[in-house]
Amino acid sequence: MDDGSLRSFEGYRVRHDDTRGPTKGGIRFHPQVHLGEVKALAFWMTCKCAVAGIPFGGGKGGIIVNPKELSRMELERLSRGFVQQLADFIGPDTDIPAPDVYTNSMIMGWMMDEYSTIQRQRTPDVITGKPIPLGGSLGRDDATGRGAYYCIKELERFNNWTRGNVRVAVQGFGNAGQHVARLLHKDGYRCVAISDSKGAIYREDGIDIPRAIELKQSQTSISNVYDERSVCDCPECGCVDCHCKSNDAGSGAVITNEQLLELDVDVLIPAALENQITGENASRITAPYIVEVANGPTTTEADNILKELGATVVPDILANAGGVTVSYFEWTQNRAGYYWSEKKVQERLQRIMAQEFEAVHDLSVEAEIDMRTAAYAHALNRIGEAMESQGTSRYFNSVMKVT
Ligand code: NAD
Repeated sequence: MDDGSLRSFEGYRVRHDDTRGPTKGGIRFHPQVHLGEVKALAFWMTCKCAVAGIPFGGGKGGIIVNPKELSRMELERLSRGFVQQLADFIGPDTDIPAPDVYTNSMIMGWMMDEYSTIQRQRTPDVITGKPIPLGGSLGRDDATGRGAYYCIKELERFNNWTRGNVRVAVQGFGNAGQHVARLLHKDGYRCVAISDSKGAIYREDGIDIPRAIELKQSQTSISNVYDERSVCDCPECGCVDCHCKSNDAGSGAVITNEQLLELDVDVLIPAALENQITGENASRITAPYIVEVANGPTTTEADNILKELGATVVPDILANAGGVTVSYFEWTQNRAGYYWSEKKVQERLQRIMAQEFEAVHDLSVEAEIDMRTAAYAHALNRIGEAMESQGTSRYFNSVMKVT
């Protein structure tokens, strides 16, 4: 630590399945990280890569730490130390990490640099979500939010929505949540509520999303790694320095994250952490469409209640697959040493998201199953095909019988 003392941190890396390619998945820094969670997240990555049709299996990592309590130098030492421990298990053809909750491109840059030092060669393809000057891809920063946005555009197409009438609430105004809100706002959707770990804000006639992003990202010092400010400091909301209170256009209000989930909106976007929609609150959720940008925001019990209520849930393994898809583009560009324009990245992402959304949607209609079950069926079909192609015991037994 900066004061010369020594502290130990516990961390994990889980590789779930590599039938379809090297394992791929983010690294999370959070005080509540535990092995069961990392295993679940690795399993979801296997399914997500298969849904998106990209040639990776699933992995995930995490360190039990509150990174906001560390100085920037301590955070860098922790990130490099984690790679020193993991160097024998990760690699461009083995297991490729990426950012997740409370890790970002700066941290990915440190980790790639450490791995390259250990290997004594430059290895940008060992990790994705890097800063652009270190081999990151254009379009990676907003890829998860953009992928979810493309899913919502497909919902719009299937349901003939008039954008200005569609009211949206976003829980978790971080990397993924900010971008999906920004793209929807730009497109004319009405984002009426956003939130972060400190609370939520609600404004009936819509929040000025670019302004909320600007405010959330305004840093007090260039050495800061994380946003210091909360959406609740937003002048649009009705709390701090609020000019909205005297504005006829409608005043804003600070509400809780629990209240945000239960708002009367058309599209609810959980984009924070897992287990937010539970058996306890699911029956109070009125949004007819739920687009899961976070991993695992809905418990199984809640999922059954939402089904009974007739809500359409676009599952996490489809809705947030944009991030890993552009990570795949980044890895491809690193290996080719040839870099694409942002337009090319976005066009290719849009094509994959629209195609896979349609495949999952069609399967759900044909088989009369919900979109989550359809997404898993779609993923398992692809994983099953890969296993069959490798040669299963059934295949070998049949060959033995013939000879
Ligand atoms: P992030 O750290 O950038 O943002 C997380 C946001 O959630 C922050 O604003 C934080 O304040 C807020 N938050 C934390 N606890 C909360 C709570 N209890 N209620 C409301 N808000 C809370 O993380 P991110 O990268 O945006 O990831 C968010 C979710 O999306 C995670 O589930 C992650 O696994 C998933 N995801 C992210 C990516 C990606 O590329 N970033 C890709 C796929 C899935």
